[in-house]
Amino acid sequence: MNEQIKQKFCQELGEEQVLFEEPMKRHTTFRIGGPAEVFVMPRTIEEIQKTLEICRREKLSYFILGNGSNLLVSDQGYKGVIIQMDRNMEQITVEGTEIRAAAGALLSSIAVAARRASLTGFEFAGGIPGTLGGAVVMNAGAYGGEMKDVLKDVTVMTGEGEVRVIPAAKLEMGYRTSIIKKAGYLVLGATISLKEGNLEEIKTLTRELREKRTSKQPLEFPSAGSTFKRPEGYFAGKLIMDSGLRGCQIGGARVSDKHCGFVINAGDATAEDVVSLMKHVTEVVREKYGVTLEPEVKFLGEFDKKCDW
Ligand SMILES: Cc1cc2nc3c(=O)[nH]c(=O)nc-3n(C[C@H](O)[C@H](O)[C@H](O)COP(=O)(O)OP(=O)(O)OC[C@H]3O[C@@H](n4cnc5c(N)ncnc54)[C@H](O)[C@@H]3O)c2cc1C
Repeated sequence: MNEQIKQKFCQELGEEQVLFEEPMKRHTTFRIGGPAEVFVMPRTIEEIQKTLEICRREKLSYFILGNGSNLLVSDQGYKGVIIQMDRNMEQITVEGTEIRAAAGALLSSIAVAARRASLTGFEFAGGIPGTLGGAVVMNAGAYGGEMKDVLKDVTVMTGEGEVRVIPAAKLEMGYRTSIIKKAGYLVLGATISLKEGNLEEIKTLTRELREKRTSKQPLEFPSAGSTFKRPEGYFAGKLIMDSGLRGCQIGGARVSDKHCGFVINAGDATAEDVVSLMKHVTEVVREKYGVTLEPEVKFLGEFDKKCDW
């Protein structure tokens, strides 16, 4: 990308909102990823529109980043524009039994707001380390709850910069998917519909789910959560464990000893280490059980090994 185009982002958003060659390992929970050519942190809807306009005009590829908690970024980084949606876009307001939140709000913050208002139904999401935007796109879920159960509507921006409010039912939310990516939408915010609850019961459930998570998941290591989707009729972690892959390591990437469904960064792992390990795990499990594991983690950038399973 030439200097002139780079300077356009600074002119439209202000220099302090634009970074160049920003290491993506600073923005992913895996702590892995090479530099992003341009990294913008828009503060308003207008700044997002301006960013998309430059990308459209200059034919630049772009990627919307939440908290980077479901992401493996290539060691070579990303040639294009990263649009970061957290930090500047995290307003949360409660009205009756509804919560209106901006895309960059963390699920943990929304869960706190729900608890303070004695609203129940969002406890399942409080321990998922993502933003509302990322959770809507992925239809994030845990412990029997999913985003689609609590979403009323979602405000999106189209690739052309038009803002639309879409009823959640029209977003075709399935297991860890929605049509948002395919449609090229950027999530700006959403309305979450909850029920009045009992504060003590909400606190108890929150504590129980937190204890479950900390006792079962390797939260002491960087990761992107469950590496593979749950195959129909199986659990990925159990298949991997039963295949004898607990603790299997390639470079700095390791199958967690605590929960085999997690590939962790055990220290200085590269993205290629993670992909090599994921490929190995997939092959061993397929050979042993005839089940093909599919990645839940999203890949960004160019990889030496093919990531299209
Ligand atoms: C320790 C750990 C535990 C986890 N536990 C769970 C769990 O229990 N359940 C679960 O479902 N997931 C879990 N995850 C995975 C992850 O937290 C979720 O998938 C989360 O929803 C991702 O949100 P994010 O903001 O980090 O998105 P990112 O990782 O930044 O992005 C994920 C995808 O969403 C897109 N995206 C992000 N924001 C927007 C936006 N505003 N508009 C359009 N597209 C957007 C990105 O382009 C990308 O394709 C876990 C992860 C970790 C590290």
